[in-house]
Amino acid sequence: MTRRLSVLGSTGSIGRSTLDVVAHMGGSESCDIVALTGHDNIDLLAMQAKRHNARLAVTSNPRRYGELKAALAGSGIEVGAGPEALIEAASQPADIVMAGIVGIAGLAPTLAAASTGADIALANKECLVCAGNLFLVAIASGGGRLLPVDSEHNAIFQVLETDQRHAVERIILTASGGPFRTLSRSDMAGVTPKDAAAHPNWSMGLKISIDSASMFNKALEMIEAHYLFDMPPDAIEVIVHPQSIIHSMVGYSDGSVLAQLGAPDMRTAIGYALGYPRRLALPVERLDFAKLARLDFHAIDAERFPAIDLARRAMRHGHAQGAVLNGAKEAALDAFIAGRIGFLDMVDIVDQVMDHLTDFAEPPAIEAVFEADRAARDQAERLIAAL
Ligand code: NAD
Ligand code: MG
Repeated sequence: MTRRLSVLGSTGSIGRSTLDVVAHMGGSESCDIVALTGHDNIDLLAMQAKRHNARLAVTSNPRRYGELKAALAGSGIEVGAGPEALIEAASQPADIVMAGIVGIAGLAPTLAAASTGADIALANKECLVCAGNLFLVAIASGGGRLLPVDSEHNAIFQVLETDQRHAVERIILTASGGPFRTLSRSDMAGVTPKDAAAHPNWSMGLKISIDSASMFNKALEMIEAHYLFDMPPDAIEVIVHPQSIIHSMVGYSDGSVLAQLGAPDMRTAIGYALGYPRRLALPVERLDFAKLARLDFHAIDAERFPAIDLARRAMRHGHAQGAVLNGAKEAALDAFIAGRIGFLDMVDIVDQVMDHLTDFAEPPAIEAVFEADRAARDQAERLIAAL
């Protein structure tokens, strides 16, 4: 089967893995690439567009238009630049759109894609964290399917029997523990962005790697699961599983727990979304259980990883609190990467911003989500400047 595919954020870790899955499709499976988008890596974007014979290539950075235009001169590939061109790329008719942009920057283009009725392969968890119900309504009114790509949510999606949803008691998200799984809180105070980005199991973009070290990634994933699977905050558990072989689990009312297992390779989750409801043949490593020998589990230490409690607070509060948490987190993460604040300052800042900004109503429209995001960033910036 041939499907028309656009990739938002094709130059990133998820985007590159997506195009790799497409390149390895065989038999009757293939994709026609409609639009590819990137931000700053123009050389790679142009190369991808040529190699995959894309119809359209867009950089969201308006200052890089000339460069992209020159790189694709004579190729017949349409070129665009800037935020409006990004929305236009996302709005091109396609069967499936990979949402692989990082941060809330992915929200507007993903919503534009959803409104065309395309299936959305969702890697950009910030869409659900920030816009929650509003995002789900947009998907439903577009009429396309929402296919989770985040490995935990993809695992749950794989083992969640649709006719047994009434019997789901709990969702158990696994967390590798990141590079600081065994580090004391006092030792965490001095870590650098480079230390924090060194994920033991997964190869990912810089920001999500650092979020994995602080457990903010797991915090976002709890909120993502809350909306995606319509589960109350107390039914969403997190367990540390250092080998990252079990990607997540669903617990049912008869005590059964179903899990999805695999090598830590995003191409499995991406391929599942691209092929759904069929399964593709993928060139990923096969599990050798004799070699694995064991799988370990530990309770998460809430004192060393307070981000987990912030996620529960945001879910209980509801309304725009996911956007507040994420906006403050994005600002604090940028400040940590820039060397302006320490690793532990990030969670302190988000905590304070969430304490301060509690009056946002349930966003009636997307502008209200951006308003909460902006307020959280402004507040976080004031705290960063005062440190
Ligand atoms: P990345 O940093 O590797 O890539 C991000 C992509 O977004 C790039 O193509 C970049 O050019 C583009 N981009 C950056 N800023 C932009 C902006 N302001 N406007 C438009 N485009 C912009 O990130 P990634 O690791 O591929 O993650 C992408 C998303 O997928 C994130 O939401 C992340 O949480 C999620 N995710 C990633 C992984 C993974 O394995 N990498 C796993 C699960 C979920
Ligand atoms: Mg994940």
